Amino acid sequence: MSALIQDPDCLFCKIAAKQIPSGIVYEDDEVFAFHDIHPWAPVHFLLIPKMHIPSMAQVGAEHAALLGRMMALVPKLALEQGCNPYPQGGYRLLTNTGREGGQEVQHLHFHVMGGPRPWLRG
Ligand code: AMP
Ligand code: ZN
Repeated sequence: MSALIQDPDCLFCKIAAKQIPSGIVYEDDEVFAFHDIHPWAPVHFLLIPKMHIPSMAQVGAEHAALLGRMMALVPKLALEQGCNPYPQGGYRLLTNTGREGGQEVQHLHFHVMGGPRPWLRG
């Protein structure tokens, strides 16, 4: 397994390391997904790299393969978690970046939200 850079003070690093419990949706060597603790939609989970990347603002060409793998997981995980099939169903895929982008947790994460409407937000 590749060495993973983690921040000991980061909530999502601790969740990925299972030091803090979460509702696990998916895990492999590099990627972790878990249910959002305050869901906005019937299906709402977060997809994160295990490696500590603070936000999309720090993403570069060296992360292209990792992010590509994460994006390729989204359709499968969304359906497994109960999102309805495209095009009548579907989901939102969202990443907040920085204070003006509404980011609260400083570890890169993609929100996947779906299921029958109405949703709490969005
Ligand atoms: P963002 O505003 O994009 O940084 O979103 C952070 C998300 O993390 C919010 O939707 C929170 O509900 C969620 N969150 C915060 N703490 C936890 C936790 N311990 N387990 C699961 N989700 C969490
Ligand atoms: Zn982290």
